[in-house]
Amino acid sequence: MENQATKQSEKKIDKVTKSEAEWRQQLSDQEYQVTRKKGTEPAFTGKYWDTHKNGVFECVCCGEPLFDSSTKFDSGSGWPSFWEPIDASKLELENDESYGMVRTEVMCRRCEAHLGHVFPDGPKPTGLRFCINSAALKLKENEGK
Ligand SMILES: [Zn+2]
Repeated sequence: MENQATKQSEKKIDKVTKSEAEWRQQLSDQEYQVTRKKGTEPAFTGKYWDTHKNGVFECVCCGEPLFDSSTKFDSGSGWPSFWEPIDASKLELENDESYGMVRTEVMCRRCEAHLGHVFPDGPKPTGLRFCINSAALKLKENEGK
């Protein structure tokens, strides 16, 4: 099924599409509200905002590797924050003007899960802050050391 996974750049995205009922079954209530209904978990409550473990953060819906722990930083926001995605082509960015704010929404391109937002106030070298809900992520810890 993933035999072409090594060809990264020009690869056509293998979209994951499921019905609302299927997502509901697969996800916890909170994961469903965040990823499928564009919700936001309360700050400082998610399981990963203060995690310093090494590994890869995958999309909780489709398992796509999205962020690496080496790009995670303490933003003080109460949500997991990254200055760079593993592969920008795996993310879908969209203007979000809800709640009277102009923000850029971050979604998983493969399954269209809502992940969080990206802000232009991050650290070097990118200056970006990907502010992502813990409920949208699943940490796959590095094995071995
Ligand atoms: Zn996904």
